[in-house]
Amino acid sequence: MEALKNIKGTKDILPNETLLWQWLENNIHKFMQSYGYGEIRTPQFENSILFNRSIGLNTDIVSKEMYSWVDQGKNNLTLKPEATASVVRAYIQHNLGRQNRLNKLYYIDSLFRRERPQKGRFRQFEQFGVESIGSEFPEQDAEIISMAYFFYKSLGIKNLTLKINSIGSKDSRKKYKEELVKYFKPHIDKLTATSKTRLKDNPLRILDTKVDFEKKLVKDAPIIIDYLSSKDKEHFKTVLSYLKELDIDYQIDNHLVRGLDYYCKTVFEIQSDLLGSQSALCGGGRYDYLIEDLGGDSTPAIGFAAGIERLILALNKEKINIDIPIDVYIITIGEKSIIHGTKIAHHLRNKLGLIVVSDMLQKSMKSQMKEANKLNAKFSIIIGDNELQNNNVLIKDMLSGEQKNVNFDKIIDFF
Ligand code: AMP
Repeated sequence: MEALKNIKGTKDILPNETLLWQWLENNIHKFMQSYGYGEIRTPQFENSILFNRSIGLNTDIVSKEMYSWVDQGKNNLTLKPEATASVVRAYIQHNLGRQNRLNKLYYIDSLFRRERPQKGRFRQFEQFGVESIGSEFPEQDAEIISMAYFFYKSLGIKNLTLKINSIGSKDSRKKYKEELVKYFKPHIDKLTATSKTRLKDNPLRILDTKVDFEKKLVKDAPIIIDYLSSKDKEHFKTVLSYLKELDIDYQIDNHLVRGLDYYCKTVFEIQSDLLGSQSALCGGGRYDYLIEDLGGDSTPAIGFAAGIERLILALNKEKINIDIPIDVYIITIGEKSIIHGTKIAHHLRNKLGLIVVSDMLQKSMKSQMKEANKLNAKFSIIIGDNELQNNNVLIKDMLSGEQKNVNFDKIIDFF
């Protein structure tokens, strides 16, 4: 039988890479908790209607990328293509808004979209993200944007561009949509079928086009900022002023709309200049109507979602390596030595919490020393015949090369 392979657009993450994933995940937990956000975990699949209603029928995600099926009980189900809709569903279902006026949540999750696989684009990918549900105030926008920005900075990523725009509240958008329709109408024959539908249902989506001819048209299209209500303008201005106070550089991008329908007011994206065509590290914005649209009380909210695979690509491009070194490599020769080595390893792990590795292949002493070097062990402990006779071990500092005989009962003290 031909060997089976993983499905296109998915990947295996092997132990030499999972270290980096775990390191990132630990950093995400610590960072989000330092802002007082609590982790939320939602199921991998939901009723399809949740995504149809929230993300929007005319978006790429819903119209062509969802993994949906009908199960044996005739339920229409979908593998989660993004996390916000599920978080909001859970928020409503568990009455979180009645328990706390503000709910600050974060997640690390697997998402599924049937996109064209390429570098930085998968069909199953991982995101982390935050959602703050309950505040309409600009300081909340600034907090969310700064969390994304400072998280990347804290990892040492330098090449960042923050793009920001306001797409206004429903009232501001009404007039703007009319202007957009007026602008695109004369070119309707040349628009793609998708854009023709969007012109009718949600003309803002055309601004997100990937088609060259349409991109040119979009360049000269009216910009929403000219149609914002004075309240929306003030909100946006205040958000920008807070970002300035925090020394966060931003670029206003008048045509940034994002790929999901539920956004309003502040929208933003952070890109890495080193990632090529898939440059977006994260994106987010306000979704003040989504909770009500999904059956909850009218509640303002804002969040972002960030791709982990792209973050890893950016870390590689910036040559940021994480190293989780082995503390001790135990070198043994012969049965008696192995028994001692096993006990020492157990005590070092149990009493001091050190990372300790021993040889399991009965390799020669020379090969074991090579392995200790390869694994970047800080120390090696050698238990040879001489050492056994004298009830001691030889501890070698692998960096300086210094070595010292240490009695069996003094090993813990040594470390
Ligand atoms: P979105 O949920 O579309 O707003 O995307 C938020 C972030 O998730 C993007 O900026 C990317 O970093 C990441 N992302 C989105 N789609 C994919 C994908 N198919 N493969 C890998 N990462 C993705």
